[in-house]
Amino acid sequence: MILVKKVKDLRQILNGYRSRGLSVGFVPTMGALHAGHISLIKTCKGHHDITVCSVFINPAQFNNAADFEKYPIKIEKDIEMLDAADCNLLFLPAVGEMYPEADPVIVYELGYIENMLEGTYRPGHFQGVCRIVDKLLAAVLPDTLYLGQKDYQQCMVIARLISLKQFSTQLFICPIVREADGLAMSSRNMRLDETERRNAGHIYRSLQRLKETIKPGETDSFKITAFNYLQTHGFKVDYVEIVAASSLEPVINWDGTQQLVVLVAAHLNEVRLIDNLYLN
Ligand code: AMP
Repeated sequence: MILVKKVKDLRQILNGYRSRGLSVGFVPTMGALHAGHISLIKTCKGHHDITVCSVFINPAQFNNAADFEKYPIKIEKDIEMLDAADCNLLFLPAVGEMYPEADPVIVYELGYIENMLEGTYRPGHFQGVCRIVDKLLAAVLPDTLYLGQKDYQQCMVIARLISLKQFSTQLFICPIVREADGLAMSSRNMRLDETERRNAGHIYRSLQRLKETIKPGETDSFKITAFNYLQTHGFKVDYVEIVAASSLEPVINWDGTQQLVVLVAAHLNEVRLIDNLYLN
């Protein structure tokens, strides 16, 4: 695997591949890699000649300084995992490479998806995500960008970014990889202590129960049941929301046919976890 730290070098190498007719897929990450990230790498490898992964903990997307400071850094293990997965190129820039001094802050017109759900609890988060993904896409110019369904709203936001900036990149969304008890894999899971880790599996159980019980008609009571279930198991719940899978608009009354997804964000003490599940 080639390791590159500068945008200039990255562009030069990728231009070389493209001039030979090779296709390029891209997996952006913040490191502390796990099997979820590696599933994206493997999917990308199945579709493209060249797989590029980036590891960059993006300061612009953290609205909470403590969360940024506690974000795990495991670069040696990440490199081992990417090597083992046969990733072709790792882009590992320093903060100054992505955010030079006097870097202008662009405001992205993301519409209502910016300020709902995650946006309500993490103001500015999606602007920060767009700021880095815009730079990464401009540097890599991939044929396909691989993202995880784990960050459902982020996938929608980046689809909007691709269309706003008219990148010719296709978006491919990979399914959520889970632990044996259903907990969605996340770099944040390593911050859970033993008791918290045992309780964390209840997030998935609450979503599954909702999926098993939901019926056409009002959705409120199903959300409340999931909310109360999580509270009973020690979570501080930010939201449980049932939305249209295609638009993220909350669905108050379900007609029984529209495709739905339930999204949840909840804290176990200091650790904030998110998850989601298609309901039909
Ligand atoms: P992160 O490093 O957390 O920013 O994640 C990088 C990419 O990996 C994002 O597109 C995530 O949605 C995706 N991802 C994170 N966790 C999982 C998972 N458990 N299953 C599938 N994809 C994931």
